Amino acid sequence: MNIATELAKVKTQTCTQNTADTKCTSAWLAANINVGRNGEGGVIAAYCTDRYLVLQTTMKPGWATDMDDISQAPGGTASDGSACVTGEISSTMPRLETQAFPLESVYELWSTDDDLQNKDYFDQCTLASGETECAQATGQGDAGRYFNDGTNSYALPSDAGIGISVTGQSIYPLYSNTLQITLESCEVDSCNEHVGQGGGQPHLHGDPFSATAGKCLYSAENYTDSSGNEDLTVHPPVIGFSYDGPLIYGRYLSNAAPGFSTGLDNCGGHTHGDYAYHYHSQIIQATTTNGNKGISKNSNTGKTYPAFVPGVFNCWKAKIYDLNGGSTNVFWTKNKDKDLTAVCDGSTNYWVKDGYCLPGADNYDTCTTSATQTTTATTTTTTTTTDDTTDDTTDGTTDDTTGTSGASSVVASLAAAAAAAVVAM
Ligand SMILES: [Zn+2]
Ligand SMILES: [Zn+2]
Repeated sequence: MNIATELAKVKTQTCTQNTADTKCTSAWLAANINVGRNGEGGVIAAYCTDRYLVLQTTMKPGWATDMDDISQAPGGTASDGSACVTGEISSTMPRLETQAFPLESVYELWSTDDDLQNKDYFDQCTLASGETECAQATGQGDAGRYFNDGTNSYALPSDAGIGISVTGQSIYPLYSNTLQITLESCEVDSCNEHVGQGGGQPHLHGDPFSATAGKCLYSAENYTDSSGNEDLTVHPPVIGFSYDGPLIYGRYLSNAAPGFSTGLDNCGGHTHGDYAYHYHSQIIQATTTNGNKGISKNSNTGKTYPAFVPGVFNCWKAKIYDLNGGSTNVFWTKNKDKDLTAVCDGSTNYWVKDGYCLPGADNYDTCTTSATQTTTATTTTTTTTTDDTTDDTTDGTTDDTTGTSGASSVVASLAAAAAAAVVAM
């Protein structure tokens, strides 16, 4: 596939770009898109329409993946060393996906941070006669439906992404499709990346932070002051975009950083100073359950370990319906709607990777593509991803996730933050 050819197919529309939203200026996009890992990210173009921030991305991770780097599940290791499993990366074939994120003027926040308040707006629900809301089978992992392990539920997708990183990679919830923390399921590598046993593209299930500069998406070197010098007391950097709209920032590394004292809510976000509501990745104290993949089942529960939330925690804080100024629910279809995500004609604020031309951009008539844009497929198998297939679906007991959130757990973990990322992950 030639990515430049695919990008040339992006539609244009008559609209006025929103530039009032912080993330919509060329300067902001240049400072944040594909930042981390020396700009190796998969984003090809980024722009705002009047209603959405839109990314054109190959969905590839911004760094060389090492899926053998799977940590043993907390609480113990399997004696035969077979506890940790992951699939093969089978869909790094180049493709160009459109990803859209509602702008601040478009979405509305819920007044509370209830785990379930968006659940009635999940798609792929066929209401049976007499039903008024989507039924959810225990442990069911159908894309688009919310998590339910039979005891706990969260209105987050059970088998689909919750957002996209600044390097263009999918971010999934902290949980597997049966609501088990993926670290405990032994399914993520040290960058919190996962590939299901059915294969597919590596995606994130946790905070892609590493104490080692350049290993994962970001590290301490990405915390910089206005002069570009490393400074852990600045607000953490942007690491991603949540599908409901708010930005996702990295974890706090200093309790002197702006907003640190404003605890994160149940959705993993907060509002402070000039910052509109946004999410932060964070370290939580989790506890092993009897579904722990690293040890004999039922024999070693209750051990605490640090887990790494990828920003959005137990809920989306914005209302995921009514995003288009009407009653039509476009949340689940917006990424596929080529009219909705088309570039505003004559756009002056955008980011496009070197050597590529964005239709609708002000310089498009004179822009020339370089000859180096054909991306070679490393593998050309199916793009269908079977996610989290290692979960135990026969477990009839309660897989209680006991992670806690908030500033206190962050404080407790701060001193060990960098070390934990290396040792535990
Ligand atoms: Zn903040
Ligand atoms: Zn996964």
